Amino acid sequence: MTENSAGWNLQCSYASLPKTFYSRVEPTAVHEPKLVAVSASVAKRLGLDASKLQDAEHAKIFAGNSLPPGSDPIAQAYAGHQFGGFTMLGDGRAILLGEQITPSGERFDVQLKGPGPTPYSRRGDGRASLGPMLREYIISHAMLGLGIPTTLSLAVAQTGQPVYRHGPEPGAVLTRVASSHIRVGTFQFAAARGDLDDLRALADYAIHRHYSHLTDSENRYLDFLKAVIERQASLIAKWMSVGFIHGVMNTDNVSIAGETIDYGPCAFMNTYRASTVFSSIDEQGRYAYVNQPSICQWNLARFAETLLSLIHNKIEDAIGLASQAINDFDGLYRQHWLMEMGRKLGIARVADGDEQLIVEFLQWMEKLELDFTNTFRELADQRLTGDQYQTVSFRQWYLKWKSRIDQSGVSIDDEATRLMRIANPVVIPRNHQVEAALEAAAYHRDLQPLEELLQVLERPFDRVESNLSYRDPPPGGDGDYCTYCGT
Ligand code: AMP
Ligand code: MG
Repeated sequence: MTENSAGWNLQCSYASLPKTFYSRVEPTAVHEPKLVAVSASVAKRLGLDASKLQDAEHAKIFAGNSLPPGSDPIAQAYAGHQFGGFTMLGDGRAILLGEQITPSGERFDVQLKGPGPTPYSRRGDGRASLGPMLREYIISHAMLGLGIPTTLSLAVAQTGQPVYRHGPEPGAVLTRVASSHIRVGTFQFAAARGDLDDLRALADYAIHRHYSHLTDSENRYLDFLKAVIERQASLIAKWMSVGFIHGVMNTDNVSIAGETIDYGPCAFMNTYRASTVFSSIDEQGRYAYVNQPSICQWNLARFAETLLSLIHNKIEDAIGLASQAINDFDGLYRQHWLMEMGRKLGIARVADGDEQLIVEFLQWMEKLELDFTNTFRELADQRLTGDQYQTVSFRQWYLKWKSRIDQSGVSIDDEATRLMRIANPVVIPRNHQVEAALEAAAYHRDLQPLEELLQVLERPFDRVESNLSYRDPPPGGDGDYCTYCGT
């Protein structure tokens, strides 16, 4: 393809790394490329003309039958601890087309997910089915609307070919966009191979791409570790503040850039219960809501281990420095969490005693089995009409909260609730709404519920008539709601 009015501006800097980090591979053409969704907001962010992405040529590009100008397709190698066990992995069903350079000079990976086998596919088919790809499309858009760092979804195309999972499913390809796809697992891959020059090349590449302010720092690899820890602490605090459960926090699903990546069996909580697990494969609750911060720290410790030989040439010193950085995660996470949860309660600057106030509110919510999102928002909107707000336990907490807000010299009706209304979404992608939209799109060729849901999720903090029906939790709560790995 030579015509390029859509605005493609691809480079392929990842291929400048040692060859061990990738394999050149082309997408496998499919029978009947057909666009299901193209994101105007993501196209705009990339400097692409969304109206030009709807044509037949782009249906071919987003299905893997044709390549955008400037692409140099590769599959990336990585490893990972999956539910605690270490394995060599790699893009088994993803191909990086290149990095789109935006008009403002930002660099984004453009990757096809589900474009056919690669050298890392093992026994997998390299393919993806429509439901899970649309699920990633919806949830990543929801995260974008909520202001949480995330990979993005540019398009979903159907292939016209079935993929076989529990039975035949419609096949699809997702075009995923990310600051990069470098993972903790990419570093584990390099460390496991044991070539120090390769490891250094990867670290320097990642620093240059994501933490360029550290290029000249005295111990840049230690500072790199600390910077990744900081971004992850901030990210997980944001997840916790909206009730998001990732579901598969394996080290290959931890982005060095600090974005939420790999939307598989993830879901948002309805009723607040700290031990909530949705994923069918997470039998031990390893990745339960409440465990996410400590699992993040565990994953970062695996990252730290890969960097030891770069941090200091004396291994004991390297271990000391890295251990300190990992131990600091607790304090950093706590600060981020207090900040996020403080904002949710209208507290702009958290102080001593606020943690207690937050914890008491959460405990009260858990005890009464209340909806996480709606309870916070009702407080923000001061719509405290439900029976739960007439209880002694709530009134006691409310008086403490009111006096805390009064102390900070702001008015509840004005400044505090204004802050709360931009910190507490009215809508989240409720599981039953997501399932309904997927069911209609994947099995009944009806894209309307999907399009309506996406529109609502674009502005999740607005309390408007059009999102009224998206606010309710499912009748009967989460019940036995269960998510499956995104295949
Ligand atoms: P995930 O669970 O999506 O994080 O994937 C874990 C690993 O399995 C990655 O290396 C994927 O590339 C690989 N994988 C998942 N599904 C497939 C598939 N259908 N074909 C080939 N590889 C796959
Ligand atoms: Mg993964």
